[in-house]
Amino acid sequence: MPPLILFAALLLALALFLLWYAQRRQREAGIPGGRIIYTDTSGWKPVEKPLYDAAAGLTGRPDYLVQKGGLVIPVEVKSSRVAAAPYDGHIYQLAAYCYLVEREFGVRPPYGILHYPNRTFSIDYTAELENALLDLLEEMRRQERRKEVHRSHDNTLLCRGCGYRADCGEALR
Ligand code: SF4
Repeated sequence: MPPLILFAALLLALALFLLWYAQRRQREAGIPGGRIIYTDTSGWKPVEKPLYDAAAGLTGRPDYLVQKGGLVIPVEVKSSRVAAAPYDGHIYQLAAYCYLVEREFGVRPPYGILHYPNRTFSIDYTAELENALLDLLEEMRRQERRKEVHRSHDNTLLCRGCGYRADCGEALR
């Protein structure tokens, strides 16, 4: 499957699973809420091509990478404002980029950056967050193997923004 399609599928699957899965794993699994930081965006370099890890079957392209003292830090930029804390789905997405950066560059990023129009957060890439990500990927694969998959949420907004809405028999209106 072409990387961009894989990437789109990953994002969609992340969104679909997020609502129920994050509640199950989030805080008690050690998923960090993020620290607000102030950062100089001039060192952010756009990422030319997607990062890919065959073993995890994972591909993705962070918006930027920051090189800092031998480290490579992924940055994800969101267009909508955020309230007190980053959304769990965004944390998982950033965790996937941290995972891919470690595979690509051989150095584990200690954190990633989530940038919203009104706030920027540093998200620690902990072993717990990595494990939660790997669990999520495994759950996604398990769901993909099922012949029949039903809607796993009651979020109308998610359906309204979904690219599969026209073909989905369970879309919320
Ligand atoms: S339209 Fe269907 S596939 Fe898309 S989010 Fe809603 S239920 Fe899921």
